[in-house]
Amino acid sequence: MKRLRLLATDFDGTLLGEPKDGRETYAFFRQQLRHFRYRYGMKWAVVTGRHIATIPAVVGELLIHGLVPDFLVMEDACIYRRAGGRYWPFWWWNLGLNLRRKRQVRRHRTHILALAKTTMERFPGAENLTGKRMLDFWFRFPNEAQAREVEQELQGEFKGNVDFFIFRWDCEVCLAPTAGTKADALTKLEKTLGIRPEEVAAIGDGQNDVSMLDRRYCGYPGCVDNASGPVKEVVIGTGGYVANLSVMMGVVEFMDFLQRDLTDDGSSRKPGAGV
Ligand SMILES: [Mg+2]
Repeated sequence: MKRLRLLATDFDGTLLGEPKDGRETYAFFRQQLRHFRYRYGMKWAVVTGRHIATIPAVVGELLIHGLVPDFLVMEDACIYRRAGGRYWPFWWWNLGLNLRRKRQVRRHRTHILALAKTTMERFPGAENLTGKRMLDFWFRFPNEAQAREVEQELQGEFKGNVDFFIFRWDCEVCLAPTAGTKADALTKLEKTLGIRPEEVAAIGDGQNDVSMLDRRYCGYPGCVDNASGPVKEVVIGTGGYVANLSVMMGVVEFMDFLQRDLTDDGSSRKPGAGV
């Protein structure tokens, strides 16, 4: 029997973003969650690249719409579980992850700091967002052309380097340590819950979602219509579901598809395209 035991959704650009969805859309999503939770005992994880310090903001944004995830995954892989009305960290997992990331950053620190300095000199309008994140390079540029230019330079500079991947979101570019991807978080959650990847659905829109939109980690990969071109290609390549609608409406559409697929004999499934 087909079952759905875990739903992993990205946050920015997937649950939240432009165009903003109305209250009815969130009400639909709440109903769908209730249905899957009741029918399959499904858990829901919000898996985001946002910094740990933004947990209250993320929880607050969801609460406005009456949404309460069972797990929060911050910075792509740091896991928090809801218990007793609060989110508690997976201490050892999160600690190990941070140590691995620190080691990767430390190995290339001088190189990255030099790059950050040159970038500031060449693009005086750029804003350094590194802050307290475990990154030494995270910039927001005044326009997308500059961001693309720096992204391409970094790709050349770090070609073949397994410690980092380069991530661009509109005008922002950052170098992220490869330790601890969303796929790692999914694997950890699957082990914790004692479930198989085939019982997991995941949906996202951006480059950092690609790792979890893989059949090795989830049986049902999907993306919203506003996902970037490369992300859509990945989802199509895995035979996943590409929604026709954007942001939360796209998630609701994905959930409808899941419901049909799980209750039907699978004949309604149309790999690679929304319906
Ligand atoms: Mg996103």
